[in-house]
Amino acid sequence: ASDSNLIRATLFPGDGIGPEIAESVKQVFREAEVPIEWEEHYVGQEIDPRTQSFLTWESLESVRQNGVGLKGPMATPIGKGHRSLNLTLRKELNLYANVRPCYSLPGYKTRYDDVNLITIRENTEGEYSGLEHQVVRGVVESLKIITRQASLRVAEYAFHYAKTHGRERVSAIHKANIMQKTDGLFLKCCREVAEKYPEIKYEEVVIDNCCMMLVKNPALFDVLVMPNLYGDIISDLCAGLIGGLGLTPSCNIGEGGIALAEAVHGSAPDIAGKNLANPTALLLSSVTMLRHLKLHDKANRIQDAILNTIAEGKYRTADLGGSSSTTDFTRAICDHL
Ligand code: NAD
Repeated sequence: ASDSNLIRATLFPGDGIGPEIAESVKQVFREAEVPIEWEEHYVGQEIDPRTQSFLTWESLESVRQNGVGLKGPMATPIGKGHRSLNLTLRKELNLYANVRPCYSLPGYKTRYDDVNLITIRENTEGEYSGLEHQVVRGVVESLKIITRQASLRVAEYAFHYAKTHGRERVSAIHKANIMQKTDGLFLKCCREVAEKYPEIKYEEVVIDNCCMMLVKNPALFDVLVMPNLYGDIISDLCAGLIGGLGLTPSCNIGEGGIALAEAVHGSAPDIAGKNLANPTALLLSSVTMLRHLKLHDKANRIQDAILNTIAEGKYRTADLGGSSSTTDFTRAICDHL
């Protein structure tokens, strides 16, 4: 029976390790008494003609209705005649910004102790427009689309994020010295938005230099905003700075305030079904979902329990050098709540 005090949220357990780490989230939420009722949706076995994808129209409608959701990794089925699952979600729900917080986890030693940055990736165009063709034999072309509308929208999101999260600086990452028209337009839009936020410092950094600075001293950065492909690459680089893909959360922001949180990693077929996966990335993603819902008490409690479990070092999964199973690690987090 559904309780009217509960907030409905869509849950896509996803593929591979997805169902195992989604189970961790459900368990931790139960233990922390989070007032959320999950509406679970699975990727279909057949192509839904309404979405041209294995994702059903009902599952997309569920995210639209609820406005919030959590998504496990999805392995796109091989074969022609359908759209990639992640691309379908992005396009159908207009998920225009992908926000990836990245901070050092106390007690888990990496080269740096002071990483604390946010990458914000434009999620709908750029090199991911899917417009590739052969011009003549031996010559192919891929179109990188940058529009004023999408660039202003993601820049506005980045500055608004910086302002509402007590951040001081936004860096626009680009290669406008070479891509003068496309990245040039992206920068122009960032500058326009920057003028509306005089309290936030604004700078522009060329992507190659940005990579060098990030690996030398990640503390130089605060909030980074960039076109699609650069965001894809830079955010994985940032994940590497703090210990890998098992740890990094993300949240997709869509038109009309939709938030679909997801781990950055994929379905990890090499360890699926073996109770070995690290659920931290999906758990921290679920924390970003709770913050979006302004359930800050629950979010803080769960985040502290995760960080304390990792800091304590008694229970860690194999990717962090430990020998705990997914379920033992999850139990330890529940004990820390
Ligand atoms: P992957 O992220 O699944 O795996 C890369 C490596 O990281 C593997 O060795 C894996 O074991 C490890 N790893 C990833 N997550 C982990 C976790 N939580 N705990 C411990 N180890 C973890 O990348 P891949 O192998 O390139 O992709 C596999 C599938 O996932 C592909 O079908 C791909 O399309 C899909 N994928 C989906 C998404 C998404 O849904 N957002 C993202 C990336 C890849």
